[in-house]
Amino acid sequence: MTAVSNIYPTAALRAADAAHHIHPFSDTKELNAEGSRIITQADGVWLTDSDGNRIMDGMAGLWCVQVGHGRKEIADAVHKQMCELSYYNTFFKTTHPPVVALAEKLAQLAPDHMNRVFFCSSGSEANDTVFRMVRHYWAQMGKPEKQVIIGRWNGYHGSTLAGTSLGGMKAMHGQGNLPVPGVHHIDQPYWFGEGGDMSPEDFGIAVARKLEEAIDQIGEDKVAAFIAEPIQGAGGVIIPPETYWPEVKRILKERDILFVADEVICGFGRLGSWFGSDYYDLKPDLMPIAKGLSSGYLPIGGVMVSDRVAEGIIDKGGEFYHGYTYSGHPACAAAALANLEIMEREKLVERVRDDIGPYLQKHWQALGDHPLVGEARMVGLVGALELVPVKGDRTKKFADEGTVGTICRDISFKNGLVMRAVSDRMIISPPLVLSHEEADLLAATAKKTLDETYAELKRTGRI
Ligand SMILES: *Cc1c(COP(=O)(O)O)cnc(C)c1O
Repeated sequence: MTAVSNIYPTAALRAADAAHHIHPFSDTKELNAEGSRIITQADGVWLTDSDGNRIMDGMAGLWCVQVGHGRKEIADAVHKQMCELSYYNTFFKTTHPPVVALAEKLAQLAPDHMNRVFFCSSGSEANDTVFRMVRHYWAQMGKPEKQVIIGRWNGYHGSTLAGTSLGGMKAMHGQGNLPVPGVHHIDQPYWFGEGGDMSPEDFGIAVARKLEEAIDQIGEDKVAAFIAEPIQGAGGVIIPPETYWPEVKRILKERDILFVADEVICGFGRLGSWFGSDYYDLKPDLMPIAKGLSSGYLPIGGVMVSDRVAEGIIDKGGEFYHGYTYSGHPACAAAALANLEIMEREKLVERVRDDIGPYLQKHWQALGDHPLVGEARMVGLVGALELVPVKGDRTKKFADEGTVGTICRDISFKNGLVMRAVSDRMIISPPLVLSHEEADLLAATAKKTLDETYAELKRTGRI
């Protein structure tokens, strides 16, 4: 029986949304003409929209809902915390039990040399914190001229001024006259798109050495840090060639700069390890975290700090003039703690590494045989399909870039699966609680979607 309260006035909600709501990363004019899809409920890996359709959430919301939707245990923990202490700040020589417990828990989960965390409310704020913290660190260490931060083209670090600047999204830079001064970008390890005639192994080394060249060109005494995602998420799930990280590590060892591993997507089990830095053995100096930290139940982020950086920003003394009203918010900390407790109890990280990860990867690899797919790649539970007009030729791209991805995404949605399109690449990043049956269905729906997209492209003469 369907309860009457579950029926939503779709048209009225769409009209009010169009009249008053500005959507993030959207062409709002176009969206308003089309009308938003209204999500009303979610449970496990399933979303329900206002018309009663059930859709599989292949993106875990926005790469964040590790433990699945609708976990009452997290809601209960937040409710209990709000009844006890809904808010107090951590500025004025004060702290509170949930933030202490969360900091301690994170120190335990993080690599051994990282024992402290600075809290904020999002991945963007985490990277704003990074921006100031690395420069503050070098000033404290008596090297204030070390200012430049090296990021990568097509990297994503959020959409605030610092996040956009550190990231390498040219379209974002174009709005707001960014990056801010003092940021330098190098090439990304995107073999499929930019590897040319090189083997993935040679390309991995060559593109890693861009870091060395940049440091030499700018001057090591001017460079504060290098920031990178272990695997680029928003840029299109760019999994670097196996040679890339070892070569970057070799360079970082020889140069006295800080390394920031942006763990906002890779952290909290996505790759089958607690952090992407564990997966690639990166030993970073700083790790921005957010998303999976609370599975998105409440907004919380942070920056994990190594003992080396702690020496500069803590042991040397002096105030770091930085913080947010909601740094370590008690209800958000309680949500994160409950989320991490579920992850540990249900062994979700091990599950991604040993069970559901390899299981879905096998399905995903098989999609690589499809005539529309140039490459299928996946680590843990994050993957991409490169859609191509000519199978076996990496140099050929679709004429109006991004259009085919959008067509495929819309067909996927119609078929009951959320995949995201990044240009002409299809992305998935499902909740870590995905069952085998759901993985079967995800792969079957993706296959059906590719078939229908292929037929549509033939019909419209795009291939
Ligand atoms: C999403 C993301 C961010 C930004 O996080 P917000 O919470 O959206 O501000 C930063 N870095 C990476 C790698 C991300 O994927």
